[in-house]
Amino acid sequence: MNVLVEDLNLLQTEGISVPCLSSRVYFVFSSICDDNLAANEVGGFQRNFSTGNFCRHCLITYEQRHISLSDISFVPRTRWQHDMIIDRITTNNIRATIQGVNNYSWFKDLIGFHPTESLPPDIMHDTAEEIERRTSSFVYGYYDSSNKPPPIKKQQLTYSNIAGSASQKLCFFRLFPIVFHDVIDQLTLLPLYTIFREIISYIYANPIRKSWLAYLDELCKQFHFMMIEFLPDNVTPKVHFITEYPRSIEKYGLPILNSCIRFEAKHLFFKQIANRTFNFKNPLLTLLKRHQLRRCLLSDLNPSSYSPSMIIRSSKSVDLFELAIPVQRLLNQYINQADSVFECNSIVYHHKNIRAKSVIVHDLAHTEEIPIFCQVHHLLNAKDKWFIIAEELNTISFNDKLWSYEVEFSGKLIKIDIEKCFDILPHCLDTYLVEQTRYNLYFCVLDEDIDGETLVLLQNNDIMNIFPRIKDRVKFIDLRSKMISNLNEQDENNDESTGVLNENTIRGSSVSNEAQQSNNDIDPMTDPDPSSNIVCSDDDNDDALTKATLPI
Ligand SMILES: [Zn+2]
Repeated sequence: MNVLVEDLNLLQTEGISVPCLSSRVYFVFSSICDDNLAANEVGGFQRNFSTGNFCRHCLITYEQRHISLSDISFVPRTRWQHDMIIDRITTNNIRATIQGVNNYSWFKDLIGFHPTESLPPDIMHDTAEEIERRTSSFVYGYYDSSNKPPPIKKQQLTYSNIAGSASQKLCFFRLFPIVFHDVIDQLTLLPLYTIFREIISYIYANPIRKSWLAYLDELCKQFHFMMIEFLPDNVTPKVHFITEYPRSIEKYGLPILNSCIRFEAKHLFFKQIANRTFNFKNPLLTLLKRHQLRRCLLSDLNPSSYSPSMIIRSSKSVDLFELAIPVQRLLNQYINQADSVFECNSIVYHHKNIRAKSVIVHDLAHTEEIPIFCQVHHLLNAKDKWFIIAEELNTISFNDKLWSYEVEFSGKLIKIDIEKCFDILPHCLDTYLVEQTRYNLYFCVLDEDIDGETLVLLQNNDIMNIFPRIKDRVKFIDLRSKMISNLNEQDENNDESTGVLNENTIRGSSVSNEAQQSNNDIDPMTDPDPSSNIVCSDDDNDDALTKATLPI
């Protein structure tokens, strides 16, 4: 382990030179993704979850796991307290476990690492794997079918252990009320399911608002309380780990970015090869060779899988008159009769497959942020631009029991540019017909926030959209320029520690249109520039967490 720690420290202190980049690249250690057992082991905590202080984040004891969190809150572990315990263990040379701490962490010499701060929870092991129930001959939607779980057998129910990967179990958990919609009312544990389903929606959301965390905390406490009430024998340490999420999200950022799910998938591949080859002499060499050969084969078969651009499938030229009359009418607003139009079956845009009948979230309505769904009818290209023709779906209501939105077709067609498809929800959805009513499964999403920086960089077109009246526009621009000049004065008085924010504000208010444009193009989901993240986290107005944050 020392070799690994030395290498990681070298990356942080000396960095590496990459030939195609002119400058040296330095790294910062943030956190280690692992399951609970591994995290406790590398952190120097006890490796036992059925006694003592089993949690690496707080000082709860195994006996206290049944105490409702509305009656008590557990003291979080701190650096200082942890180091004191380590001191006691090492100076007295005792082999005992004190408050769940056994020994030094494996990574004690790693710069930026501390056992109490660098081991975030893993949603895959805390939630998806615990989800278990029965299944039937349910027809899964196109997007859910890639995670379709295997049928659950009778003996698996006896042992409360269903087969399948974490993604398959999560898929089944989400679809559970749809699959069993006819009997769900008779389930005594439905309130427990509903509350856990809501927690899942929050912790799998991307991005997450900081303002949601207080509510999430209440939900987790209530879930913990209900588990004690309904299923006291099943209150395992994992139930406690769920209650740690609000605090962890604040500390480590999005849980999905700290999830082990991709590493587990890789591990499964290696385990299968190891089992099949019966090589006991040098298994590592075999695993490495097989893995490299597989990568070569995959990249040879599908070279485009590494390119971030668009992949068009089965594109053909269409005559405008072949399309339905409402579609023609809509297109006439954007193209000329003489323009050639192409249609394709599906588009893979940034690794996301869009096809006819896919449902996307097109807009959020009102302050309640009710999603406006639309269903794709055509994928067309005109004037060298791909766009979709979709039908808007009226959002009737949110059904708590099915944890889905009830929708109906509106007959209203709209044109959406392919680049705008995933502005709100970063993937497509399936629609399910339940008792002749259509439902969309849906996770929490976040609308665009206008924070201080956005206000400064707002372009003329956007201002015209927000303020259609000239009088309002002039007033807004006047007030904004006053605000910017005030800010600049304040910035000049500030010391160098606010350098990043300062630089952005000045850049934004400068006359150069080009600089404004390039700043405006920053995408909160994919922006690789760490400085914009620093601005976000420093800004009081912006409460969205979009990344796994680095500990400061
Ligand atoms: Zn804890």
